[in-house]
Amino acid sequence: MSEHPLWPTQLDQAGRALAAESARYAAMGWMRGTSGNLSVVLGRDPLRLAVTASGMDKAELTPRDVVVVDEHGAAVPDQPGPARRPSAEAGLHARIARVSGAGAVVHVHVLAPVVAAERWPHGVALRDLEMLKGLGRGAHDDVVTIPVIPNGQDMRVLGDAFEAGFRADTPALIVARHGLYVWGEDLYQARHRAECLDWLLRFVVETASGPVGPASAPTGNGAAEPTPVLSERGTP
Ligand SMILES: [Zn+2]
Repeated sequence: MSEHPLWPTQLDQAGRALAAESARYAAMGWMRGTSGNLSVVLGRDPLRLAVTASGMDKAELTPRDVVVVDEHGAAVPDQPGPARRPSAEAGLHARIARVSGAGAVVHVHVLAPVVAAERWPHGVALRDLEMLKGLGRGAHDDVVTIPVIPNGQDMRVLGDAFEAGFRADTPALIVARHGLYVWGEDLYQARHRAECLDWLLRFVVETASGPVGPASAPTGNGAAEPTPVLSERGTP
């Protein structure tokens, strides 16, 4: 017996949605080479998420290619479906869902956020852009800084870094040299936010001038950065 009687129905619905969304992202080139993973919250007390299975082509998932994980991202015993492995990244999905209260988390290896983080490693600031409305923020006079955290393989470390910079009004996180996490009430809101954020990040990358590389590094050439870098800690 599973620990939750609603799982078979919930999990079937979640599996269908996760497979369909994964296929969409894969077609966009955002889940190349089995990368990336998507999750939806099945229950909050205790926290349970359905996460896409690890190591599978995200264009070809079936509704059964999901794993139920706990608040640490570990597969729970007595899975209703066939044996599948969760990605190690499921731990960060669970942390994000717990801290933000999101109902769905999307993790994709889309390029623009990684390029933006390379340039602005302390956070990517966005402002005065209509697409910011897609993140639930203002198109004018509202600076939205997407946090950037270093990459790593210990999801507790990444989770701590995420939580340290978490703001309830900013539903996204860039992991440097890795990829993007975006969350929302459900998979559809998360997808729409991810699409808008991709546009926004492409914009700042493509309109930025000056040398490519960490903007915080002193260059000595006085080149102005058109997009402000997060500097609340007085970063030089
Ligand atoms: Zn990843």
